Amino acid sequence: MQEVWTIGRILKWTESFFQEKGIESPRLDAEVLLSAVLKKDRIHLYVHFDQPLIPEELAAFRAMVKARAAHTPVAYILGEKEFMGLTFRVTEATLVPRPDTEILVQAAVDELRKAEDPTGVRFADIGTGSGAICLSVLHFLPEATADTVDISEAARAVAEENAESLGLADRCTFHTGDLLEPLAGKTYDAILSNPPYIPEKDIETLSPDVRLKEPHTALAGGEDGLDFYRRLAKDAPGMLKEKGFLAVEVGIHQAADVAALFQENSLIGRTETKKDLAGIERVVIGWKG
Ligand code: SAM
Ligand code: GLN
Repeated sequence: MQEVWTIGRILKWTESFFQEKGIESPRLDAEVLLSAVLKKDRIHLYVHFDQPLIPEELAAFRAMVKARAAHTPVAYILGEKEFMGLTFRVTEATLVPRPDTEILVQAAVDELRKAEDPTGVRFADIGTGSGAICLSVLHFLPEATADTVDISEAARAVAEENAESLGLADRCTFHTGDLLEPLAGKTYDAILSNPPYIPEKDIETLSPDVRLKEPHTALAGGEDGLDFYRRLAKDAPGMLKEKGFLAVEVGIHQAADVAALFQENSLIGRTETKKDLAGIERVVIGWKG
């Protein structure tokens, strides 16, 4: 008799298949994908190990397993990723928002809350991708408004969709273009960015999920990874209001160099760095004045 694919059996099989393919968290990924197919929480899987899958469920799960084995990130397969407690739609045109980036959002929200007139706060998010940074800051600051820029038209479309689904579209304007160019002549309380920062030689050392599937325009920061910081340090301070700040996410070992780039601009009076949960300096803030 042919063996039945129960929840328990298919999870076990998928875990070892993913392991063979070099997937980093084989069991978790198998569970997350199967939960999505069954439209149930992960806990449901554990209390229904003996439940057989119907052919439609099996077919949908097989397609997901095939994509994951080819290193497509789980977030692209599901089409969404949670960030700052909000659900963002993501596609292969957008970087998958990382937990590290929540440090930048938290720092920006904390600093903008100190503004003399919080009702008039306006900020920009440069290289917005899925809109993760901009839209979560707007979510936590209900009176703020924002401009975003991305060079990718496809990313902009995803960010706009996210603004709609999160109910934030009326406070955010989306621009397509090169860094600060579309915002010429405007001034802000804060300019935020998680720019591409991977040094040229490190791209090939990234995990296959990132290297093979995420957009290189979202990752490649030039020879030393600092190209975008150089440009932002030169041009952004002139677009800050009095007491405004420029806050960026940085890669490992980049904080001191980025702070030094900020200090080269005479409009920046003071810089500060913030660490992520692993103790790595992850955010650099430069204040005008
Ligand atoms: N802000 C998102 C996040 O934190 O998840 C995405 C960050 S991703 C590291 C960098 C983003 O910058 C990508 O969406 C990429 O398309 C965009 N980008 C790359 N070069 C750019 C440029 N010259 N001008 C504007 N955006 C650019
Ligand atoms: N943090 C990303 C990574 O995992 C890089 C994002 C960026 O270049 N800003 O590699």
